Amino acid sequence: MSKLKLATVWLDGCSGCHMSFLDMDERLLALAELVDVVYSPIVDAKQFPDQVDIALVEGAVASVDDEKKIRKIRAHTKTLVAMGDCAITANVPSMRNPIGPAAILDRAYKENATVQQQIPCVVVPQLLNKVRPIHEFVKVDVFLPGCPPSADTFHAALTALVTGEPLDVSALTRFGA
Ligand code: SF4
Repeated sequence: MSKLKLATVWLDGCSGCHMSFLDMDERLLALAELVDVVYSPIVDAKQFPDQVDIALVEGAVASVDDEKKIRKIRAHTKTLVAMGDCAITANVPSMRNPIGPAAILDRAYKENATVQQQIPCVVVPQLLNKVRPIHEFVKVDVFLPGCPPSADTFHAALTALVTGEPLDVSALTRFGA
């Protein structure tokens, strides 16, 4: 059986979901027999490939860059997984929604800065007015809840996705359980 192509993507999240993915520890070795990680913050590839079988997306959509990225990923992915509560509900990043991007930028780059008090016009991507979950932009195939999803949950879900076998719900655990 040829290996499936797996991507993991980091939008507006804290990277905790990726840390929990890595917490699968030695089970990652067994997973590596079944998938090739073709794009991820944890590998060198910088271009999203033409076709990916499974993409795990961490984080909400908070900027123009995030929106472009999630639309591109959807167009090149068979099974798109919203990984964790930020991707599913916008969660922590959406705490800025009642305040708005202008006040956030002022606070970060002017009020809290001791030198060069100015809002950057390069490198920092243009923020959207509201941070929103990814299903408000593109179709999501699988929702993997948790902040973050536990390593056991990752393992159970990925095993089901990769083998095509039913999800073993008894293997799902809460983070820290
Ligand atoms: Fe971090 Fe939780 Fe959001 Fe994952 S769901 S990116 S762990 S805040």
